Amino acid sequence: MKKVFVIFVLAAVIFAVVVLAFKNRFAAPDMNPDKIRVVTTLFPLYDFAKNIGGGMADVRLLLPPGVESHHFEPSPNDMAAINSADIFVYTGKFMEPWAEDIINGMSNAKTLIVDSSDGTVLIPSVFHDADEPAGSFDPHIWLDFDNARIMARNIAAAFKNKDGANSDFYDKNLSDYQNVLTLFDEKYRTALAGCAAKEIIYGGHYAFGYPAKRYALEYTAAQGLSPDSEPSAGDMVDLVKQIKDNNIKYIFYEELASPSIAETLSRETGAKMLLLSAAHNVSKSDFESGISFLAIMENNLKNLKVGLECDE
Ligand SMILES: [Zn+2]
Repeated sequence: MKKVFVIFVLAAVIFAVVVLAFKNRFAAPDMNPDKIRVVTTLFPLYDFAKNIGGGMADVRLLLPPGVESHHFEPSPNDMAAINSADIFVYTGKFMEPWAEDIINGMSNAKTLIVDSSDGTVLIPSVFHDADEPAGSFDPHIWLDFDNARIMARNIAAAFKNKDGANSDFYDKNLSDYQNVLTLFDEKYRTALAGCAAKEIIYGGHYAFGYPAKRYALEYTAAQGLSPDSEPSAGDMVDLVKQIKDNNIKYIFYEELASPSIAETLSRETGAKMLLLSAAHNVSKSDFESGISFLAIMENNLKNLKVGLECDE
């Protein structure tokens, strides 16, 4: 009798674990059905969608705060979230190569899929390592304010498609947000035109090709296009030499990654370290405190002005 009871309890426990695991794995997110439900991949898209959708939208960030974005792969839960959304916004195929498979495998034909890069101007990838694949484009399009305006427009178009009755509301929000992006662009252009130094040494991956081109700065990144491509010992020696030869006083480090490369360069050269965030994603505490894309861009400009010794 006791043995039967133990088997029964064991069976019940196994059943409960299986049910819970299944439920957890395929649970659709708890999104507000009275609002336009939007799921976005990266943080800038999330923030653009929140600014444009305002109180009409329930916007979710697919990447958990703090997670590195280049090697993100959506889980079954993420698939459920995308499938249950009214709008799914991804950056573009060079940032999220997995998006194409998702789109092909979507079971919910009602989800409007937005490739935010549609209409943006792309620049070719610059790889630090000679053995990296060539021929693709730099995926960090949101760091070019012209492209950011186009991305915001693509997101607004999706809102208007799903909720035409409130088109004026989305148009107004888009126009307001685009105006602020234009102001930021002008602030960057003015401030970065008057700097003693023009060279950004980045102890991270090659994320700032767009701003470097836009504001005529030189840019050297220790890693390739993705945060896991480690610089070789030779690369590090070259970088140390570059910093010393050019009398560079400040180097920059990236967000959400170990700053060990920047720390090594700093230790070897005496150059001080400043944060330059490419805003792919934000930390849990920044997310919870409601940090914005523009606040990150503001802080970047502040640090660039220090690091490049600008007049303003
Ligand atoms: Zn990146």
